[in-house]
Amino acid sequence: MMSISQKITEDLSKPSWLRKLFEEGERLKSIYGEDKVYNFTIGNPGVEPPAAFHEELKRIALNPTPGMHRYMSNAGYLETREAIAQVLQENCGLDFSPNHIVMSCGAGGGLNILLKTILNPGEEVIVLVPYFPLYRAYIDNYGGVIKKVKTNADFQLNLELLAENITAKTKAIIINSPNNPTGVIYPEKSIKELGQLLRAKEEEFNNTIYLISDEPYSKLVFDGLTVPSIFKHVRNSFVVTSHSKDLALPGERIGYVAMHPEIKDADLIFKGLNFCNRALGFVNAPALMQRLVTNLQREEADIEGYLEKRNMLYNHLTSLGFDVVKPAGTFYLFPRSPMPDDIEFIKFALKYNIVVVPGIDFDMPGYFRLSFSVSLDTVMNSLPAFTKLAQDLRL
Ligand code: PLP
Repeated sequence: MMSISQKITEDLSKPSWLRKLFEEGERLKSIYGEDKVYNFTIGNPGVEPPAAFHEELKRIALNPTPGMHRYMSNAGYLETREAIAQVLQENCGLDFSPNHIVMSCGAGGGLNILLKTILNPGEEVIVLVPYFPLYRAYIDNYGGVIKKVKTNADFQLNLELLAENITAKTKAIIINSPNNPTGVIYPEKSIKELGQLLRAKEEEFNNTIYLISDEPYSKLVFDGLTVPSIFKHVRNSFVVTSHSKDLALPGERIGYVAMHPEIKDADLIFKGLNFCNRALGFVNAPALMQRLVTNLQREEADIEGYLEKRNMLYNHLTSLGFDVVKPAGTFYLFPRSPMPDDIEFIKFALKYNIVVVPGIDFDMPGYFRLSFSVSLDTVMNSLPAFTKLAQDLRL
């Protein structure tokens, strides 16, 4: 008898290159020194929360109120949800109330309470390749079946392929824009057409098909772009997001699920999300963080810093002959691997102390991901190493 479940034993046997490589990068640093190893593996924000966060933190800590650390409604504090409803209303002109919002333990917690609420075992959830690898586990947690649909060469939506893959068993589609790992944003036109497709398929199968937009990077966008609201185009939809990236608070586990105000069975869904927050043991999002973010909905971490690093790396890599789609948002680049086998390439890159993640971790072999949420020094120091690598590969 094994001490842990068969399923988790199998999960553990599948390699996650990201963690392994992150640790390899740290090991190399202990040998070669901090400034001679370029560890681009992990997506941990390299910036600090905005000054307004620390001001709120001080204000709240200096003015404790009775009960401020107690349980509250599973959905979270009313004033926090009111503040979010207000911002959503301003963004897309729909009539959000606090009961369209449930506070969650980050976007990961939000996706889990949502998938637990909506999924029956055997129902399919479509994800777009390449995708955030934990979607696999999140869908599997509730007996859902992951269905992978490829995107176009520029990582944009392939609506024909999506249409072919929607079946009577499709319960939801998860999109992630700006995207981890590619950095692409889906334009308004694509979201509108996706909405039309979903409506047609709902009619065809006489079913509800939810669009779930996982948006933790929605404020990390460059070049004056904005992320179009899915709520304007899709009624049976949810936005799941967090302040892990936009306020640089990933360790604090604070985010939310917002449902479209006109979604079918809104009250029932709200009750389901509340119950699942309890049932999964989250109970509620952290109380202190909810209070903090109430007044920070219009704040964001330093985007300019990310922009500088994106430009530096993108310009250098393309000048060396790397094939890479310019990321419109996030802090990731997803270039094509210059060797057909991405694992072979990442091992080759390690010889130059460049530590990157193979595309296979995102179900897209033949590519690799770099996270530029590292320091500007790391980016600058890495440039000659990339040049040498490209020369040796005769790119
Ligand atoms: N979704 C995507 C696409 C992500 O990249 C991440 C984290 O990196 C998450 C969800 C989880 O975010 P959180 O830390 O808010 O749970």
